[in-house]
Amino acid sequence: MDDDGARQASEPGQAPGLALPWADDTFPPVHAAQRAQVYDALMGMALHEATHALASDDVPVGALVVSPRGTLLGVGRNRREEAQDPTAHAEVLAVRQAAATLGGWRLEGCTLVVTLEPCVMCAGAIALARVARVVLGAWDPKAGATGSVWDVVRDRRSTHRPEVVGGVREAECGALLREFFETQR
Ligand SMILES: [Zn+2]
Repeated sequence: MDDDGARQASEPGQAPGLALPWADDTFPPVHAAQRAQVYDALMGMALHEATHALASDDVPVGALVVSPRGTLLGVGRNRREEAQDPTAHAEVLAVRQAAATLGGWRLEGCTLVVTLEPCVMCAGAIALARVARVVLGAWDPKAGATGSVWDVVRDRRSTHRPEVVGGVREAECGALLREFFETQR
């Protein structure tokens, strides 16, 4: 693994493929209160990943992919400025790393957690990867594509329609973005 890959993988304090503390045979937990706790914890990891984007003046967005058994498969943060790559969004990078970890592109049954509602490109990538569930923090009323402006992932014409769970730690996710844009003025 190159330096960059190692750094990306280690940032949330977990290596891809590693079992998370709550990992068991049923992920996410069936019980609503437990499920909410797990989503909160995962969003905390995504928020932590998002803060690393600030070092390169990238919009702070973080994402991760968790397997159907609750193991961490991939993480990503927005690196558009750092990499000068218009497609280097957090979700795309997390999905790519998850596919590499699994050794296959089908992320069936997986959950993608992201601090900001996915854009059209990322929503498309999520659907193409056959991710089962999107857990998002802040809604994006200007460019969101999982319910706000478009709903790419739940379009009736799509054959694969991931579940969308919105507003997890929404205030913190929104505050991180607002603070970033305030310092950019
Ligand atoms: Zn995106």
